Amino acid sequence: MNLDCEVASLAQRLVRAPSENPPGREAAAAEVLAEQATRWGLQVTGSEVAKGRTNVVIRLPGAGSAPSLVYCGHLDTVPCGDREWEVDPLSGVVRDGHLWGRGAVDMKGGLAAMLTSLAVLGGGDTRLPGDVVLAAVVGEEVDCAGSRHLSNTEIIDDAGWLVVGEPTGLDLVIAHKGAIRIELTVHGKAAHGAAPELGMNAIIAMARLLSALEIFPPTAQRHPLLGSPTASLNTIKGGTAINVVPDSCRAVLDVRTIPGAETDDILEAINETADHVRAVMPGIGVEAKILHERASVSTPPDHQLVRAAQHAASRTLGSHRPMRGAAYFSDASVLSPPRNLPTILFGPGEESFMHRPNERVSLTALSKAARFFATLPTSLFSLDLS
Ligand SMILES: [Zn+2]
Repeated sequence: MNLDCEVASLAQRLVRAPSENPPGREAAAAEVLAEQATRWGLQVTGSEVAKGRTNVVIRLPGAGSAPSLVYCGHLDTVPCGDREWEVDPLSGVVRDGHLWGRGAVDMKGGLAAMLTSLAVLGGGDTRLPGDVVLAAVVGEEVDCAGSRHLSNTEIIDDAGWLVVGEPTGLDLVIAHKGAIRIELTVHGKAAHGAAPELGMNAIIAMARLLSALEIFPPTAQRHPLLGSPTASLNTIKGGTAINVVPDSCRAVLDVRTIPGAETDDILEAINETADHVRAVMPGIGVEAKILHERASVSTPPDHQLVRAAQHAASRTLGSHRPMRGAAYFSDASVLSPPRNLPTILFGPGEESFMHRPNERVSLTALSKAARFFATLPTSLFSLDLS
């Protein structure tokens, strides 16, 4: 097969199969991937996540009983958006050596490279001791519905290693931050604005809570690749009228975590601060609700998977690649932590194009990524990393 042509053509067909999420209709993209995998003689199964939304699982069986290497990518994209594109975002046009369109970078390019690599491996003489599995999942851009479904299957039970093909500019991303969104609600007591002493002002209580709250004390640990955790107050709402003491106030914190800064620690900090506020404003109620939780992910730089990836990078990209962390989270947040699954992210395309107009991926990067993915299993299974 001509790898360069095949991977570019597959990525182009995936971009032309819209899978914007919301609303989350990945069927056309799933079909393109499954059809191509079948044509290449790979085993294809579908696993329905919700009506009309199916994870596609493509398997290259190995000859032994080693754990499988799982490649994972998401089929959905963010919406094309209202802002001006230089090209039709669903046209998949090739210009200046790049494939343009929504999902070219995030992450239909990565999916195309991973599937093409399975075809290359399947066409070769080497029989690997374990399976290589590509899990193409739905829903990553909204609620990770596809990876949550996948995490309860034997595909992850049987996995020894996970590679997520999100765009990394062909760097090895061995850690990424997690995200926790926390809704804080303060309950007070309404009163006439002319008699505030009869009420309990929920906005004042929220202000006290937020100004005293130290989710991450200055001594909080730093991760060598991810830096410090962060917390950002991004929405706040309270009060009903200009002459009524507000009886409730609601705020949402966007917290980005690193390994070791867990949800329980954060909730403890909130509860302690709420106690201080209640000490000066008795009767105030404080609730903290987790709206969304994605774990951070980290694999040691000397892990076998990372060493195998560097070996594959040297062979296919000409040199070792930088190892770094990423601020965004991925399906690995769902798939890795429950089983402590060693994980890296590696994929074609620059992160700066993610979720932006004029998203585009270089055809050279697509080819390089496909070669890397076709080499990694041999490096990993042989452990011949000399
Ligand atoms: Zn993505």
